[in-house]
Amino acid sequence: MTPSLLLRNVTVIDGLGGAPRPAHDVLITDGLFTSISPTGSLPLPQVVNPDALTVLDGTGHTALPGFFDCHVHVSTSPATDTLTSITEPESAKTLRAVPALRATLDAGVTSARDLAGADSGFRDAIADGVIAGPALQLAIRILSVSGGHGDWRTVGGTPLDTGPGAGVVGDSPADFVRLTREVIREGADWIKVAATGGMGSPRSNPEGGGLSEAELRAVVEEAARHGHIGVAAHSIGTAGIAAAVRAGVRSIEHGYLIDDATIELMGEQGTFLVPTLSTLTRPASPTAAPWTVAKRRRTVQNARERVGAAIRAGVNVALGTDAGIVEHGTNLRELALLVEFGLTPMQAILAGTSSAARMSGILDEVGTIEPGKRADLVATLVDPLAQIAALADPGAMRLIVQSGRIHSSTFPLESTEPQSA
Ligand SMILES: [Zn+2]
Repeated sequence: MTPSLLLRNVTVIDGLGGAPRPAHDVLITDGLFTSISPTGSLPLPQVVNPDALTVLDGTGHTALPGFFDCHVHVSTSPATDTLTSITEPESAKTLRAVPALRATLDAGVTSARDLAGADSGFRDAIADGVIAGPALQLAIRILSVSGGHGDWRTVGGTPLDTGPGAGVVGDSPADFVRLTREVIREGADWIKVAATGGMGSPRSNPEGGGLSEAELRAVVEEAARHGHIGVAAHSIGTAGIAAAVRAGVRSIEHGYLIDDATIELMGEQGTFLVPTLSTLTRPASPTAAPWTVAKRRRTVQNARERVGAAIRAGVNVALGTDAGIVEHGTNLRELALLVEFGLTPMQAILAGTSSAARMSGILDEVGTIEPGKRADLVATLVDPLAQIAALADPGAMRLIVQSGRIHSSTFPLESTEPQSA
Protein backbone atom coordinates (compact mmCIF):
# COMPACT_ATOMS: atom_id res chain seq x y z
CA MET A 1 0.00 0.00 0.00
CA THR A 2 1.31 3.48 -0.92
CA PRO A 3 1.70 5.80 2.11
CA SER A 4 -0.74 8.67 2.25
CA LEU A 5 0.48 12.08 1.19
CA LEU A 6 -0.73 15.48 2.33
CA LEU A 7 0.24 18.53 0.30
CA ARG A 8 -0.51 21.49 2.53
CA ASN A 9 -1.43 25.04 1.62
CA VAL A 10 -1.20 25.03 -2.15
CA THR A 11 -3.12 26.92 -4.82
CA VAL A 12 -5.09 24.30 -6.75
CA ILE A 13 -5.75 24.43 -10.48
CA ASP A 14 -7.89 21.34 -10.68
CA GLY A 15 -8.18 20.91 -14.45
CA LEU A 16 -11.92 21.65 -14.53
CA GLY A 17 -11.43 25.22 -15.76
CA GLY A 18 -12.56 27.19 -12.71
CA ALA A 19 -10.48 29.88 -10.99
CA PRO A 20 -7.41 28.71 -9.03
CA ARG A 21 -8.24 27.96 -5.38
CA PRO A 22 -5.61 29.32 -2.98
CA ALA A 23 -4.81 27.85 0.43
CA HIS A 24 -5.98 24.27 -0.03
CA ASP A 25 -4.77 20.93 1.26
CA VAL A 26 -4.64 17.96 -1.09
CA LEU A 27 -4.82 14.53 0.51
CA ILE A 28 -3.79 11.43 -1.41
CA THR A 29 -4.47 7.90 -0.17
CA ASP A 30 -3.94 4.57 -1.91
CA GLY A 31 -2.87 6.30 -5.10
CA LEU A 32 -6.03 8.42 -5.38
CA PHE A 33 -6.98 11.98 -4.50
CA THR A 34 -9.21 11.67 -1.46
CA SER A 35 -9.84 15.25 -0.47
CA ILE A 36 -9.17 18.80 -1.63
CA SER A 37 -10.17 21.16 1.15
CA PRO A 38 -9.32 24.59 2.60
CA THR A 39 -6.05 24.41 4.51
CA GLY A 40 -6.43 22.98 7.98
CA SER A 41 -10.12 22.13 7.61
CA LEU A 42 -9.74 18.36 7.36
CA PRO A 43 -9.99 16.34 10.62
CA LEU A 44 -6.89 14.38 9.62
CA PRO A 45 -6.57 11.77 12.39
CA GLN A 46 -10.11 10.68 11.62
CA VAL A 47 -9.52 10.16 7.90
CA VAL A 48 -5.97 8.83 7.62
CA ASN A 49 -3.56 6.64 9.55
CA PRO A 50 -1.06 9.15 11.03
CA ASP A 51 1.72 6.54 11.06
CA ALA A 52 1.64 6.28 7.29
CA LEU A 53 1.33 9.91 6.23
CA THR A 54 3.90 12.13 4.52
CA VAL A 55 3.21 15.84 4.88
CA LEU A 56 4.69 18.43 2.49
CA ASP A 57 4.42 22.18 2.99
CA GLY A 58 3.35 23.53 -0.38
CA THR A 59 3.21 27.20 0.59
CA GLY A 60 3.79 29.39 -2.46
CA HIS A 61 3.20 26.52 -4.88
CA THR A 62 0.47 25.83 -7.39
CA ALA A 63 -0.68 22.23 -7.86
CA LEU A 64 -2.00 21.07 -11.23
CA PRO A 65 -3.04 17.69 -12.60
CA GLY A 66 -0.11 15.80 -14.12
CA PHE A 67 0.10 16.66 -17.81
CA PHE A 68 -0.88 14.37 -20.69
CA ASP A 69 1.04 14.55 -23.98
CA CYS A 70 -1.23 12.98 -26.59
CA HIS A 71 1.35 12.62 -29.35
CA VAL A 72 4.77 11.18 -28.59
CA HIS A 73 7.11 8.60 -30.11
CA VAL A 74 9.14 7.43 -27.15
CA SER A 75 11.36 5.05 -29.10
CA THR A 76 12.27 7.67 -31.72
CA SER A 77 15.12 10.10 -31.16
CA PRO A 78 15.40 13.41 -33.03
CA ALA A 79 19.18 13.00 -33.06
CA THR A 80 19.02 9.74 -35.03
CA ASP A 81 19.28 10.09 -38.79
CA THR A 82 17.16 8.01 -41.15
CA LEU A 83 19.92 5.60 -42.16
CA THR A 84 20.82 4.85 -38.54
CA SER A 85 17.20 4.35 -37.55
CA ILE A 86 16.67 1.68 -40.21
CA THR A 87 19.99 -0.12 -39.70
CA GLU A 88 20.34 -0.16 -35.90
CA PRO A 89 18.97 -3.07 -33.85
CA GLU A 90 15.61 -2.66 -32.14
CA SER A 91 17.33 -2.79 -28.73
CA ALA A 92 19.09 0.51 -29.50
CA LYS A 93 15.71 2.23 -29.85
CA THR A 94 14.34 0.52 -26.76
CA LEU A 95 17.30 1.41 -24.56
CA ARG A 96 17.31 5.04 -25.72
CA ALA A 97 13.64 5.20 -24.79
CA VAL A 98 14.45 4.57 -21.11
CA PRO A 99 16.03 8.01 -20.45
CA ALA A 100 13.54 9.61 -22.86
CA LEU A 101 10.62 8.27 -20.82
CA ARG A 102 12.21 9.48 -17.60
CA ALA A 103 12.81 12.94 -19.09
CA THR A 104 9.16 13.06 -20.14
CA LEU A 105 7.99 12.29 -16.62
CA ASP A 106 10.56 14.74 -15.17
CA ALA A 107 8.96 17.41 -17.37
CA GLY A 108 5.64 16.93 -15.56
CA VAL A 109 4.04 14.59 -18.10
CA THR A 110 2.46 11.75 -16.13
CA SER A 111 0.47 10.28 -19.06
CA ALA A 112 1.23 10.05 -22.75
CA ARG A 113 -0.10 8.53 -25.93
CA ASP A 114 2.55 6.95 -28.13
CA LEU A 115 1.43 7.14 -31.75
CA ALA A 116 3.73 4.48 -33.21
CA GLY A 117 7.04 2.93 -32.32
CA ALA A 118 6.47 1.60 -28.81
CA ASP A 119 4.99 -1.86 -28.31
CA SER A 120 3.01 -3.05 -25.32
CA GLY A 121 6.18 -3.92 -23.37
CA PHE A 122 6.83 -0.21 -22.85
CA ARG A 123 3.36 0.38 -21.43
CA ASP A 124 3.59 -2.67 -19.17
CA ALA A 125 7.14 -1.92 -17.94
CA ILE A 126 6.00 1.52 -16.79
CA ALA A 127 2.77 0.23 -15.24
CA ASP A 128 4.78 -2.43 -13.37
CA GLY A 129 7.36 0.10 -12.13
CA VAL A 130 10.25 -1.49 -14.04
CA ILE A 131 11.16 1.89 -15.57
CA ALA A 132 10.02 5.46 -14.85
CA GLY A 133 7.80 7.16 -17.37
CA PRO A 134 4.36 8.47 -18.12
CA ALA A 135 1.46 6.00 -18.10
CA LEU A 136 1.13 5.09 -21.77
CA GLN A 137 -1.61 4.52 -24.27
CA LEU A 138 -0.24 3.04 -27.48
CA ALA A 139 -0.96 2.88 -31.18
CA ILE A 140 2.12 0.63 -31.80
CA ARG A 141 2.01 1.00 -35.60
CA ILE A 142 0.68 3.36 -38.24
CA LEU A 143 -1.71 1.97 -40.86
CA SER A 144 -0.90 3.31 -44.31
CA VAL A 145 -1.71 2.78 -47.97
CA SER A 146 1.00 1.59 -50.34
CA GLY A 147 3.35 4.48 -50.93
CA GLY A 148 1.79 6.39 -48.03
CA HIS A 149 3.24 7.92 -44.87
CA GLY A 150 3.73 4.54 -43.17
CA ASP A 151 5.19 2.66 -46.12
CA TRP A 152 8.89 2.27 -45.32
CA ARG A 153 9.97 0.07 -48.19
CA THR A 154 12.60 0.71 -50.81
CA VAL A 155 11.46 1.50 -54.34
CA GLY A 156 12.04 -2.20 -55.05
CA GLY A 157 9.66 -3.18 -52.24
CA THR A 158 12.16 -4.39 -49.62
CA PRO A 159 11.04 -3.55 -46.07
CA LEU A 160 13.48 -1.14 -44.43
CA ASP A 161 12.28 -1.87 -40.94
CA THR A 162 10.02 -4.49 -39.42
CA GLY A 163 10.07 -3.23 -35.82
CA PRO A 164 7.02 -1.68 -34.21
CA GLY A 165 8.06 1.70 -35.61
CA ALA A 166 7.45 0.44 -39.12
CA GLY A 167 4.08 1.09 -40.67
CA VAL A 168 1.81 -1.60 -42.03
CA VAL A 169 0.31 -1.31 -45.47
CA GLY A 170 -3.12 -2.07 -46.92
CA ASP A 171 -5.05 -1.08 -50.02
CA SER A 172 -8.72 -1.88 -49.46
CA PRO A 173 -11.32 -1.68 -46.67
CA ALA A 174 -10.86 -5.43 -46.11
CA ASP A 175 -7.10 -4.97 -45.73
CA PHE A 176 -7.68 -2.28 -43.13
CA VAL A 177 -10.12 -4.41 -41.14
CA ARG A 178 -7.41 -7.07 -40.94
CA LEU A 179 -4.64 -4.57 -40.05
CA THR A 180 -6.85 -3.04 -37.35
CA ARG A 181 -7.36 -6.49 -35.84
CA GLU A 182 -3.62 -7.14 -36.04
CA VAL A 183 -2.63 -4.05 -34.04
CA ILE A 184 -5.37 -4.74 -31.52
CA ARG A 185 -3.94 -8.26 -31.21
CA GLU A 186 -0.55 -6.67 -30.50
CA GLY A 187 -2.12 -4.67 -27.65
CA ALA A 188 -2.92 -1.28 -29.18
CA ASP A 189 -5.14 1.17 -27.28
CA TRP A 190 -5.49 3.39 -30.34
CA ILE A 191 -5.45 2.82 -34.07
CA LYS A 192 -3.21 5.27 -35.92
CA VAL A 193 -3.89 5.81 -39.58
CA ALA A 194 -2.19 7.93 -42.23
CA ALA A 195 -5.12 9.89 -43.67
CA THR A 196 -2.61 11.87 -45.74
CA GLY A 197 1.04 11.64 -46.59
CA GLY A 198 3.58 13.35 -44.39
CA MET A 199 6.86 15.20 -44.14
CA GLY A 200 9.05 12.36 -42.94
CA SER A 201 8.23 9.73 -45.57
CA PRO A 202 10.07 9.74 -48.89
CA ARG A 203 7.33 9.66 -51.53
CA SER A 204 4.03 10.65 -49.93
CA ASN A 205 2.43 14.07 -50.23
CA PRO A 206 1.26 15.84 -47.07
CA GLU A 207 -1.54 17.42 -49.12
CA GLY A 208 -3.18 14.07 -49.95
CA GLY A 209 -2.58 10.43 -50.58
CA GLY A 210 -3.78 8.66 -47.44
CA LEU A 211 -6.48 6.10 -46.73
CA SER A 212 -9.69 6.61 -48.70
CA GLU A 213 -12.83 7.51 -46.79
CA ALA A 214 -14.13 3.95 -47.22
CA GLU A 215 -10.87 2.59 -45.77
CA LEU A 216 -11.02 5.07 -42.89
CA ARG A 217 -14.60 4.00 -42.13
CA ALA A 218 -13.52 0.37 -42.10
CA VAL A 219 -10.89 1.17 -39.45
CA VAL A 220 -13.26 3.28 -37.33
CA GLU A 221 -15.99 0.61 -37.39
CA GLU A 222 -13.60 -2.21 -36.62
CA ALA A 223 -11.97 -0.27 -33.75
CA ALA A 224 -15.43 0.51 -32.33
CA ARG A 225 -16.35 -3.18 -32.44
CA HIS A 226 -13.43 -3.82 -30.10
CA GLY A 227 -14.61 -1.45 -27.38
CA HIS A 228 -13.38 2.02 -26.55
CA ILE A 229 -10.42 2.04 -28.91
CA GLY A 230 -10.26 5.35 -30.78
CA VAL A 231 -8.74 6.19 -34.12
CA ALA A 232 -6.05 8.87 -34.45
CA ALA A 233 -5.54 10.20 -37.96
CA HIS A 234 -2.24 11.65 -39.03
CA SER A 235 -3.54 14.23 -41.51
CA ILE A 236 -2.11 17.40 -42.96
CA GLY A 237 -4.02 18.25 -46.17
CA THR A 238 -7.64 19.29 -45.81
CA ALA A 239 -9.18 16.56 -48.03
CA GLY A 240 -7.68 13.85 -45.83
CA ILE A 241 -8.66 15.65 -42.65
CA ALA A 242 -12.26 15.98 -43.87
CA ALA A 243 -12.45 12.32 -44.89
CA ALA A 244 -11.13 11.27 -41.48
CA VAL A 245 -13.59 13.52 -39.63
CA ARG A 246 -16.52 12.25 -41.70
CA ALA A 247 -15.39 8.67 -41.07
CA GLY A 248 -15.58 9.35 -37.33
CA VAL A 249 -11.98 9.34 -36.10
CA ARG A 250 -11.52 10.69 -32.59
CA SER A 251 -8.43 12.80 -33.20
CA ILE A 252 -6.82 14.69 -36.05
CA GLU A 253 -3.05 14.75 -35.63
CA HIS A 254 -1.34 17.91 -36.98
CA GLY A 255 -4.29 19.15 -39.09
CA TYR A 256 -1.95 21.76 -40.50
CA LEU A 257 -3.73 22.66 -43.76
CA ILE A 258 -7.35 22.43 -42.59
CA ASP A 259 -9.89 24.64 -44.40
CA ASP A 260 -12.79 26.57 -42.87
CA ALA A 261 -15.48 24.04 -43.86
CA THR A 262 -13.54 21.22 -42.18
CA ILE A 263 -12.99 23.33 -39.06
CA GLU A 264 -16.78 23.69 -38.90
CA LEU A 265 -17.26 19.96 -39.41
CA MET A 266 -14.81 19.17 -36.60
CA GLY A 267 -16.78 21.50 -34.33
CA GLU A 268 -20.05 19.75 -35.19
CA GLN A 269 -18.61 16.26 -34.70
CA GLY A 270 -16.59 17.13 -31.58
CA THR A 271 -13.44 15.72 -33.17
CA PHE A 272 -10.25 16.57 -31.28
CA LEU A 273 -7.33 18.38 -32.86
CA VAL A 274 -3.83 17.54 -31.62
CA PRO A 275 -1.96 20.35 -33.36
CA THR A 276 1.65 19.34 -32.49
CA LEU A 277 2.82 22.95 -32.61
CA SER A 278 6.18 21.98 -31.10
CA THR A 279 6.95 20.15 -34.32
CA LEU A 280 5.37 22.70 -36.63
CA THR A 281 7.43 25.55 -35.19
CA ARG A 282 10.74 23.73 -34.72
CA PRO A 283 13.79 24.81 -36.66
CA ALA A 284 14.79 22.57 -39.56
CA SER A 285 16.68 19.56 -38.24
CA PRO A 286 20.28 19.09 -39.42
CA THR A 287 19.61 15.34 -39.80
CA ALA A 288 16.38 15.78 -41.81
CA ALA A 289 16.21 13.97 -45.13
CA PRO A 290 16.05 16.21 -48.22
CA TRP A 291 12.43 15.24 -48.95
CA THR A 292 11.44 16.34 -45.44
CA VAL A 293 13.14 19.71 -45.86
CA ALA A 294 11.38 20.30 -49.19
CA LYS A 295 7.93 19.35 -47.92
CA ARG A 296 8.28 21.41 -44.76
CA ARG A 297 9.33 24.44 -46.78
CA ARG A 298 6.12 24.40 -48.82
CA THR A 299 3.81 23.55 -45.90
CA VAL A 300 4.89 25.47 -42.81
CA GLN A 301 3.82 28.99 -43.70
CA ASN A 302 0.21 28.07 -44.60
CA ALA A 303 0.11 25.61 -41.73
CA ARG A 304 0.73 28.27 -39.10
CA GLU A 305 -2.22 30.29 -40.38
CA ARG A 306 -4.63 27.37 -40.88
CA VAL A 307 -4.00 25.47 -37.66
CA GLY A 308 -4.25 28.80 -35.82
CA ALA A 309 -7.66 29.36 -37.42
CA ALA A 310 -8.85 25.95 -36.17
CA ILE A 311 -7.63 26.61 -32.62
CA ARG A 312 -9.18 30.09 -32.52
CA ALA A 313 -12.46 28.67 -33.88
CA GLY A 314 -12.76 26.63 -30.69
CA VAL A 315 -12.44 23.03 -31.88
CA ASN A 316 -11.61 20.55 -29.12
CA VAL A 317 -7.85 20.71 -28.61
CA ALA A 318 -5.68 18.14 -26.82
CA LEU A 319 -2.01 18.81 -26.17
CA GLY A 320 0.46 16.80 -28.22
CA THR A 321 4.01 17.51 -29.27
CA ASP A 322 5.38 14.78 -31.55
CA ALA A 323 8.22 14.34 -29.04
CA GLY A 324 10.67 12.00 -30.70
CA ILE A 325 10.58 14.28 -33.72
CA VAL A 326 11.29 17.10 -31.28
CA GLU A 327 13.38 16.61 -28.13
CA HIS A 328 11.96 14.42 -25.37
CA GLY A 329 11.39 16.23 -22.07
CA THR A 330 10.52 19.59 -23.62
CA ASN A 331 6.85 18.61 -23.87
CA LEU A 332 5.40 21.55 -21.97
CA ARG A 333 6.80 24.06 -24.46
CA GLU A 334 3.55 23.19 -26.23
CA LEU A 335 1.53 25.10 -23.60
CA ALA A 336 2.96 28.50 -24.54
CA LEU A 337 2.63 27.63 -28.24
CA LEU A 338 -1.06 26.85 -27.76
CA VAL A 339 -1.42 30.29 -26.17
CA GLU A 340 0.53 31.88 -29.04
CA PHE A 341 -1.91 30.19 -31.46
CA GLY A 342 -5.03 31.40 -29.69
CA LEU A 343 -5.87 29.60 -26.43
CA THR A 344 -5.94 31.29 -23.04
CA PRO A 345 -3.41 29.91 -20.54
CA MET A 346 -6.24 28.12 -18.71
CA GLN A 347 -7.50 26.58 -21.97
CA ALA A 348 -3.97 25.41 -22.75
CA ILE A 349 -3.76 23.76 -19.31
CA LEU A 350 -7.09 22.02 -19.94
CA ALA A 351 -5.83 20.85 -23.35
CA GLY A 352 -2.94 19.19 -21.53
CA THR A 353 -4.98 17.70 -18.68
CA SER A 354 -8.74 17.08 -18.65
CA SER A 355 -9.33 17.48 -22.41
CA ALA A 356 -6.52 15.03 -23.15
CA ALA A 357 -8.05 12.55 -20.70
CA ARG A 358 -11.52 13.08 -22.19
CA MET A 359 -10.26 12.45 -25.71
CA SER A 360 -8.50 9.32 -24.45
CA GLY A 361 -11.63 7.95 -22.80
CA ILE A 362 -10.16 8.01 -19.27
CA LEU A 363 -11.49 11.25 -17.80
CA ASP A 364 -13.26 9.22 -15.11
CA GLU A 365 -9.82 7.98 -13.96
CA VAL A 366 -7.38 10.86 -14.46
CA GLY A 367 -6.93 14.41 -15.79
CA THR A 368 -8.27 16.49 -12.90
CA ILE A 369 -7.57 16.98 -9.20
CA GLU A 370 -10.82 15.57 -7.81
CA PRO A 371 -11.61 12.97 -5.17
CA GLY A 372 -11.49 9.47 -6.61
CA LYS A 373 -9.16 10.32 -9.50
CA ARG A 374 -5.71 8.80 -9.91
CA ALA A 375 -3.32 11.04 -7.99
CA ASP A 376 -1.16 12.41 -10.80
CA LEU A 377 -0.06 15.89 -9.78
CA VAL A 378 2.65 18.46 -10.32
CA ALA A 379 3.46 21.44 -8.11
CA THR A 380 5.40 24.52 -9.14
CA LEU A 381 6.43 27.95 -7.92
CA VAL A 382 5.52 29.32 -11.36
CA ASP A 383 2.18 31.10 -11.65
CA PRO A 384 0.84 29.05 -14.57
CA LEU A 385 -1.72 31.62 -15.68
CA ALA A 386 0.78 34.51 -15.68
CA GLN A 387 3.96 32.74 -16.87
CA ILE A 388 2.86 29.65 -18.75
CA ALA A 389 6.06 29.49 -20.83
CA ALA A 390 8.03 28.96 -17.62
CA LEU A 391 6.36 25.57 -17.10
CA ALA A 392 8.43 24.25 -20.01
CA ASP A 393 11.54 24.22 -17.83
CA PRO A 394 11.67 20.82 -16.09
CA GLY A 395 13.24 22.69 -13.15
CA ALA A 396 9.87 24.40 -12.68
CA MET A 397 8.45 21.06 -11.52
CA ARG A 398 9.14 21.12 -7.78
CA LEU A 399 7.02 18.05 -7.08
CA ILE A 400 5.82 15.29 -9.39
CA VAL A 401 3.41 12.70 -8.03
CA GLN A 402 2.31 9.77 -10.15
CA SER A 403 -0.40 7.39 -8.96
CA GLY A 404 0.08 8.76 -5.45
CA ARG A 405 3.84 8.12 -5.36
CA ILE A 406 6.42 10.91 -5.26
CA HIS A 407 8.50 10.67 -8.44
CA SER A 408 10.57 13.75 -7.65
CA SER A 409 10.46 16.48 -5.06
CA THR A 410 12.48 19.50 -4.00
CA PHE A 411 10.22 19.98 -0.98
CA PRO A 412 11.69 19.87 2.50
CA LEU A 413 9.87 17.19 4.44
CA GLU A 414 7.63 19.04 6.88
CA SER A 415 6.84 16.07 9.06
CA THR A 416 5.57 12.55 8.88
CA GLU A 417 2.94 13.32 11.49
CA PRO A 418 -0.36 14.94 10.67
CA GLN A 419 -0.98 18.36 12.13
CA SER A 420 -4.20 18.54 14.04
CA ALA A 421 -6.82 20.41 12.11
ZN1 LIG B 1 3.95 11.67 -34.86
